[in-house]
Amino acid sequence: MFNPETIKQQFPIFKQKTPLGQDLVYLDNAATCQKPLAVIDRITDFYAKEYGTVGRSSYWPATETTKNYNEVRGKVQRLLNAAHEDEIVFTSGTTDAINKVANSFLRPRLNAGDVVIISEMEHHANLIPWQQICTEKGALLKVIPILDSGELDYEALESLLTNKVKLLAVTGVSNALGIKNDLLRIIKAAKGFEVPVFIDAAQSVAHSEIDVVALHCDFLVFSGHKIYGPTGVGVLFGKRERLREMAPLSYGGGIVKEVTIEAASFQQSPNKHEAGTPNIAGVIGLGAAVDFINEIGYAEISAHTKAITGYALEQLKAMEGIQVIGDVDDRAPVISFVMEGVHAHDLSTFLNEKGICIRAGHHCAQPLMHRLNLMATARISFAIYNTKADIDALIIALKETQAFLS
Ligand code: PMP
Repeated sequence: MFNPETIKQQFPIFKQKTPLGQDLVYLDNAATCQKPLAVIDRITDFYAKEYGTVGRSSYWPATETTKNYNEVRGKVQRLLNAAHEDEIVFTSGTTDAINKVANSFLRPRLNAGDVVIISEMEHHANLIPWQQICTEKGALLKVIPILDSGELDYEALESLLTNKVKLLAVTGVSNALGIKNDLLRIIKAAKGFEVPVFIDAAQSVAHSEIDVVALHCDFLVFSGHKIYGPTGVGVLFGKRERLREMAPLSYGGGIVKEVTIEAASFQQSPNKHEAGTPNIAGVIGLGAAVDFINEIGYAEISAHTKAITGYALEQLKAMEGIQVIGDVDDRAPVISFVMEGVHAHDLSTFLNEKGICIRAGHHCAQPLMHRLNLMATARISFAIYNTKADIDALIIALKETQAFLS
């Protein structure tokens, strides 16, 4: 039987008290989530017992490390249901992957007058790299607007699509509001104009099953640290033909066939796209995080985080002076709200005094905040280890804050 308390015990951070002596209530999982012992131990073992480089040397432990590193590629392939293992490239995170695709895929294909489409709810990471290249090339960055509910205006998207569009980049889930986008609908519309589609799945992979074949997206990226894995590692899925036609994401050692002073020829992807010594420990730790997710299973993960989100919404909506942002029936485990008369930053500072971690601010989504006429919101976001008791502690602390500050 699934029990979040048992899961919580697998996360060492919850065994200690906060500096003020409280139990830690961690509700900032959309920013980054805590690490289970299995991931921590796997990384420690790698450094302590089997450390070596990858892809270059024929001695143990380098051969063992190369085998383990490449096995993680297979694990990620299966996690995303990618057709081929070579469609998985390791990066240092979502932001890195987006910048690399912007430079290596979009830049050479974009001309003056062309169009790139993003949405109004994008994280800055899935906005600025495309924006900068559009500015440089004299291309247009067009925006799928959101409705007052926070959902994308799908009809407006359909009117933006033409054969001038060279890329559509959109998030699977809004990190600020938890709104889930209908990716199948978006991708189907884009494919009608043969537009390549890039999915920012930073907020998706921890909570729900992804199938890149069913989605039919060209690229999909996410970060290890948001799925119980280490920081400094991420994944770029790219369709085989896309990765093959792209120039290396960066240049250096480990990716070449032949080099002279004048020129270089390159191996095939994924090697072509992983120049330099990669974050080996990060990739090995990511493999352990994928195992952790698989052991629990997406069915349990989604059901639990959905139940916690529903419970939190119910409690928040029952409170006076709290406005939940975004009006949707089904949301990812991310809730943004404002408390009347209390600035979100003051709220998060006050909650910190009680051992409760929430995020306050614009959530790296300033255009979305402008659209909603908000400077900042308080955001809570859940993971597999969060319990109803965490929400109860939050609600008590919110009421105390209200009494004290408003
Ligand atoms: N996109 C979204 C939707 C995110 O939530 C985040 C992280 N907050 C990012 C991109 C950037 O991820 P990272 O900082 O791991 O590169």
